[in-house]
Amino acid sequence: MSPPSAPKDKPKFYLTTPIYYANSRPHVGSAYTTIVCDVIARYKRMCGYDVAYLTGTDEHGVNIERAAEAKGITPQQLVDANEAIFRDLWKLLGITHTDFIRTTSAEHARAVEKLVLRTLELDRGRPDAEKAIYKAKYEGRYCIYDNLYVSDTPEPANCPTCGRDAELISEENYFFRLSAYQGKLLELYKNHPEFIQPDFRRNEVRSFVESGLKDVSISRKTIKWGIPWPGDPEHVFYVWYDALTSYMSGIGYASESKKDEEKFAKFWPADLHMIGKEIIRFHAVYWPAFLMAAELPLPKQIFAHGWLLFEQEKMSKSKGNVAYPEPIVKVLGNDALRYYLLREVVFGQDGNFSREALITRYNADLANGLGNLASRTLAMIEKYFAGDVPAIPEGSHQKVEVQQVASAALQAVGQHMASYNFSGAVQAIWQLVGAVDQYIAESKPWKLAESSDPEDRKKLGAVLWTAGQALRFVSILAHPFIPESTQQLWDRLGQSGRVA
Ligand SMILES: [Zn+2]
Repeated sequence: MSPPSAPKDKPKFYLTTPIYYANSRPHVGSAYTTIVCDVIARYKRMCGYDVAYLTGTDEHGVNIERAAEAKGITPQQLVDANEAIFRDLWKLLGITHTDFIRTTSAEHARAVEKLVLRTLELDRGRPDAEKAIYKAKYEGRYCIYDNLYVSDTPEPANCPTCGRDAELISEENYFFRLSAYQGKLLELYKNHPEFIQPDFRRNEVRSFVESGLKDVSISRKTIKWGIPWPGDPEHVFYVWYDALTSYMSGIGYASESKKDEEKFAKFWPADLHMIGKEIIRFHAVYWPAFLMAAELPLPKQIFAHGWLLFEQEKMSKSKGNVAYPEPIVKVLGNDALRYYLLREVVFGQDGNFSREALITRYNADLANGLGNLASRTLAMIEKYFAGDVPAIPEGSHQKVEVQQVASAALQAVGQHMASYNFSGAVQAIWQLVGAVDQYIAESKPWKLAESSDPEDRKKLGAVLWTAGQALRFVSILAHPFIPESTQQLWDRLGQSGRVA
């Protein structure tokens, strides 16, 4: 038995979205990941955690250079404009991130430098064959018309953009010795099966690592728009070493302020990197290896979710089938989009985005389901009790079934949220909504109100009290999923302050 102690600090939880590439505006797929993380962040806060929630924009690289050139502006102007679009969208969607990182910021560049210098310092004590970072000749195929690295091998290849034969280029690059981390990575997946989720993704990654790892080039000479290599500014960092480090720079790694230093010490390692399945290798293979080479703590979990298809097809701008969140939110509101994405998609699998299904869900579950139940209950409380239904004495006329469904819902939400089964959690809450609906239909309060029997008056009070309490409970349980309508319901039920 441990002795009683002073109240401890809240436990911490640090989660991240991927940092989004700032070459164009976000579509509903980026909104999906960000909304999912917002649900987790809100839920964890309600469970008493001190939550850091990071999102941001990846602002370097050739695609940004090219997009800016096409528009006749500088890369900085382009990323400034696009970063503002991302920020505005998160504001519109009511996202409760605590931190936002831009890879073109000074604090991020400092963090990338610090990470590589730390690794190089550790390399000094390692034999040559084990040095994590080394300089070597890079050979690959490059399209000079599109300024695009087409492949990292010398074999002939065609440019995916223009179709021309890509040129063989060869330049000195800095490489990361990924091949040396095969054993350590396999050990990590074995000892911490929760590190990659869902399980079937871990199996894919493990097979990939087992088949052997090639060292990766982490700098480029041909690209200008990037963070210069410390002491060798002809090179800039190439994509992932730069981008992944944002998970640390975003919470204060390499900051000179005492406050940020404490923040980093508190929140690192990340508890959850939420990503789309297309970037799992970089997160589950490169990132832990980069951190191992720097002897820094590893994130606790990488969760790769599926793609959001649009009317059963992969969204792509060239097909013209990209859905954007703004018009949906304008017509139906934030909660409709959130509810639909969380209820309809089995998290982890590919999901389908369909406007028709969204409207059907909205009508069935939000407008007619919870909305209608709340309106009817509140109207009856107003009509029969002038808005103030008396509390019922314990044990009298209470509807045991409703209470049982409520406590089952609470338990189910906890279980489902532990495995990020959002649709399961939402369904459990809506079972309670259904149970209250049925209870009202069966007890017919409008009939009880017509009766002159004082016992019926008591029953009427009990029915509306029970329904009102259940709705209060629903507004708490459903708050992370539909924060706006649950707050409205909370207010209409006469509760004070915020739900959470
Ligand atoms: Zn080309």
